[in-house]
This record gives sequence, C-alpha cells and structure tokens, in this order.
Amino acid sequence: MEKFRELGLEGEILKGIEDLGFEVPSPIQEKVIPVILGEENDLVALAQTGTGKTAAFGLPLLQKLDTSLSVIQVLILSPTRELCMQIASDLQKYSKYRADIRVTCVYGGADIRRQIKELERGVQVLVATPGRLCDLIKRGAVNIESVRAVVLDEADEMLNMGFKEDLNFILDETPEQRNTYLFSATMPREVERIARNYLRHPQEIAVGKKNQGADTVSHEYYQVLAKDCYETLHRVIDCAPDMYAIIFTRTKVDAREIARKLQKDGIDCDALHGDLSQSQRDDVMERFRAKRLKVLVATDVAARGLDVDNLTHVINYNLPEDVESYTHRSGRTGRAGRAGISVAIIHSKEKGKLRRIENMLKKKFQYREVPGGEEVCRAQLSYYADKILAAEPKETLDKFQQELYAKFADLSKEELIRKMMSYEFGKLLKKYASVADLNLAVEERHEKKKEEHFDFTTFSVNVGREDGFTPRDLMAIINENAPRRGIEIGNIRIFENNAKFEVDLRGVDGFKSHFRNVNFNGLPFVLTEVKDRYGRDRQEKGGRNRDFGGGKRRSTANNKWRSEKRRNEGSTRGRFGEKKKGVDNGRKGRKNR
Ligand code: ADP
Ligand code: MG
Repeated sequence: MEKFRELGLEGEILKGIEDLGFEVPSPIQEKVIPVILGEENDLVALAQTGTGKTAAFGLPLLQKLDTSLSVIQVLILSPTRELCMQIASDLQKYSKYRADIRVTCVYGGADIRRQIKELERGVQVLVATPGRLCDLIKRGAVNIESVRAVVLDEADEMLNMGFKEDLNFILDETPEQRNTYLFSATMPREVERIARNYLRHPQEIAVGKKNQGADTVSHEYYQVLAKDCYETLHRVIDCAPDMYAIIFTRTKVDAREIARKLQKDGIDCDALHGDLSQSQRDDVMERFRAKRLKVLVATDVAARGLDVDNLTHVINYNLPEDVESYTHRSGRTGRAGRAGISVAIIHSKEKGKLRRIENMLKKKFQYREVPGGEEVCRAQLSYYADKILAAEPKETLDKFQQELYAKFADLSKEELIRKMMSYEFGKLLKKYASVADLNLAVEERHEKKKEEHFDFTTFSVNVGREDGFTPRDLMAIINENAPRRGIEIGNIRIFENNAKFEVDLRGVDGFKSHFRNVNFNGLPFVLTEVKDRYGRDRQEKGGRNRDFGGGKRRSTANNKWRSEKRRNEGSTRGRFGEKKKGVDNGRKGRKNR
C-alpha cells in the first residue's frame, strides 16, 4: 500500500484498492498515476492487456473528482459493452468507500431510456462505448461540456471497430482545456492520427514486456494438413484436461461451426461472435467465466478486451493476418505472472505467416507434434487419477461405507482401477484406440515437396504504383532480363513509390547485374537488395509493436510514429492488416519463363 501512497494516492481510495488485494502498483500504474495526478498533462500510454490500465487511470481520476459537483467530469471511452461494464465495475470497487462518487456506464444493445434516466440522476464519471455516447449526445441526453478528462481506453481496438468518426465527434464536443489520456496496446497509424489531432504535447509512456504477462506466454505451433486442423484442435484440447481457453477463428461462421463440432464431440464449449444477441452473449460469457465452459470459440472482435483471467491456453485456429492481432490474442493468457500457452494450428501454406509473426514478435514458436491416441489417453487418465488422489474423503460417506465395501469386496485393487477408468473413459479410450498420426501426413508431404523449399532474397525496386508499375510488369522485366529461366519468384508487393519482391537466388549468378540497363516507362529500373526476407523496412521492423521496452529503442520508436506518415503510406497493411485496394500481394511460386 505504501507504494501506492508514494505515488500520490490517499485516503478512501487507498482503502478501496487494499480491499481488492492490490499490494504494489504495476509498472504502468507506477508511471501513469503521478502523471494524471499532476496538472495539465496529456498522455499516450502503450501497454498490453492485463497490465492494470484500468487502475492506472481510474485511481488518480477518481481522486481528482470534485464531488461537490454532480456533472460529468471524467469520460472514459472503451470499445465494447463488456469492457465498459468491467471498467465501471472496477471504478466502483476502487471508490467503494466514497459514497460521494457516482460512476455509470452506457453502451449499445441495451435500453437507452434506462441509461438516460441513470444519467439524469447525475454522475461524475461516465464510461461509454463511442457509438452509444454519440447517440446520447445527438439526442441531447448527455452533456459532456463539463468534462475535464477523457480516457481513450484500447484506442486501437476502438478504431479497429470502426469508431473513428464517433471518436472525432465526441472529442470535438468536449472542452478544449480537457486532458486526454490515450491507452493502446499497439500504435497503428490511425491511433497516431488521433493522438496528433486531439492530444496536446502528450507525455509518452511505454511499458515493456519484461514485467508483463506476455513474457510468461510460450508460443507453440502444430503443422498439419488443412483437412486435419479440426482433428488436431480436438486432440490438443483432449490432451490438456485442465484447459481453460479461448479459440480464435477468423470468421463468425468458423466460430459457430467449430463450437458446434466440439460440442458434438463432448467438449464444454460455446461460440462468441457478432451475430449473437446481447442476452446470448451475456449468457455465454457468464458460463465461460464460471468455467462451465472449458473453451470459448470467438472471433477477434467478439473477444476484444474481455477480462477473463487464468486462461491456460489461447488457440489460434487460424493465424491472424498481422502481428497486432496475434499480440492481442496471445496477451489473453499468461496474465498476472502465470504461465500461458499460445497455440497456433497451421497448415503447410501458413508457415510463412508464422515466420512473419515470429520476426515481428522476436519470439520463436516451438514446434509440437500432434498428440497421438496414447498420449491423449495418458493425459486424461493421469489427470483423473490426480484428482482422485487429491480428493478429501467426505465424512458423510461413512454411513455408506460398509455397503460400498461389500459391493466391491470381490475386486482386487487392480480390477477396481480398470473398471473405474473404463467406466469413466470408455468413449475416449475407444475413440483413441487407433487414430491416424497427423504428423506423418505432413512429413510425407514434406518429402514430396522438398524441392519446393524456397530460400528467398528480397529486392526492392524504385518504381511503384504511382509509376503505373504492376506485378505483371515486374514479371515481364524479369523474364526478359534474368540470367536463366525457372527462377523462383516469391511475394511481390507494390507500394506507392516502390515495390518489393522475393527471388530464390540459389543457382543464380549475378542476378542484380542483369538489370543494370533496364528502364520502366522511361525510368531507370534500380534493384536494391533488402536484408529482411519479408521486405519489411527497418522502420517497421524497429517495431512499435514490440519495442515498448525501455531505453534508447523505445524513444526512437516513439519519435518515429509521430513523423512517419509518408513512409507508412506505402504499407500493404491497412487497418488491422487488411490489404489495401489496388495492392497486389503477389503469390508464391511464380517462375520466370
Ligand atoms: P488492462 O486494462 O491493462 O488489460 P486491467 O486493468 O483489466 O488490465 O487489469 C488486469 C487485472 O489485474 C485485473 O484483474 C486487475 O484487478 C488486476 N490488477 C490491476 N492492478 C493490480 C495491482 N496493482 N495488483 C494486483 N492486481 C492488479
Ligand atoms: Mg483494460
């Protein structure tokens, strides 16, 4: 508690967090609390989920309230209904001993009239989703002119969810002289833009991964044929009897489909996706939180920001397109210092995507063999045996003891164990008595495809979309000038002013020199070798996604995101890794003719 006091927190607020069992501030709290308690500081804070952001902004803002007034002084914007409720409930807990503080939340999908009534009773802290708050402002049901502090929580998520216009509208409605505190796990361009437009000389704080959950996550992958992905998932689940996990899928159709299959296969699970009604969502979440569901199958959007602790695994049934989504997903496990496992189930074609994510994360995925039947059964039997061993004999059983002993009198201990396990695991043992080795399938295929193993070098050229340059032009130039036929060309990416492509240079001599006198549309065609296989330029590699960690690196990363608009325009990754229109991402395995 002393540490919190040293940061400037006092009295009833300290008592509130003491009740919650907080002992020392988390790193982000240590940095953010004094800034917010100080005067006139805007703030950009980079920190992943699970680092304790709610208390970082919540505690100082609650303390700074002028409770003699019952107007809205603090506005917290957050992407989803669940998150809003979570934040409001957290703030209510922190201010448990402050009867004079009133916090409420408003969000879509719930009765707006009730929310209006609630607002009419006067609140000082309003937690809102941008969409619903806009509605309320436009109806004149809420006045945010008295707001002194605005928190943008999970700003990247809000923008990903398409709240950009709403955010602009809301921020324009708040008074000039407010303070704005922006929290985000990642800093994509859209977030930079909001920060540039709406924050005044913000202080920048980044919390590295060192002290966070993220470092306690190990990353693993299974590589199988596409048709075996589901079976692999099933075995991975069966092989971890104490699993409590979220399975991420790319689409809601997948989420629904996989949840249904798993249910049929006897696994306690359900799906969470955008097509559910609010009450269905609540129901699913309640069952998952109560651990009546072992796994939740969800899309990224649906699972955004859910504060579910103790996940043992996060499973990427489909790898996301970009490292940001992956970071978000895997950040759901390994929280509060506990070990977590982030699993990716990939098919052979996704290896490249996995490598890209590895490069950006600067972490290696551990290859795992898909468990065979024996392994699954062993895991289940041993887990069950441990449970039995750990059970406390109940006294109420005494009465029945003699009858039970008599029933089993003729069985030896060995026979009893066999019967008990057969009864409990009959179905499982039968299913796994003989199952295919899914790893073999991959290996066999690898044998066949060995000759197709590429070793790409990336080149960049000085012409791009603006010069009318297309992948077809590139292939034409290569066909015309390359030293020989059959050279393997990998990814081709066309940017605004340049382009990048991959070439397998094995057995090719002096590739570059053959393009010395080539022109494209009157421009000299200049090839430059790029170090990174994936052609990411250093600025992007230098990673706002990863280098939140301290020191020199961080400051360069931070300086960069302020002024690199132009360079970023060339990225093929638009919003959350979607490809921008008109950018040909190329395809693997072209050969020059
Ligand atoms: P974030 O918003 O960064 O994802 P939260 O604010 O939701 O993280 O906090 C994650 C979890 O950590 C919550 O369960 C919260 O109660 C807990 N927590 C936050 N700060 C502390 C602290 N100083 N000590 C112990 N637990 C904390
Ligand atoms: Mg949060």
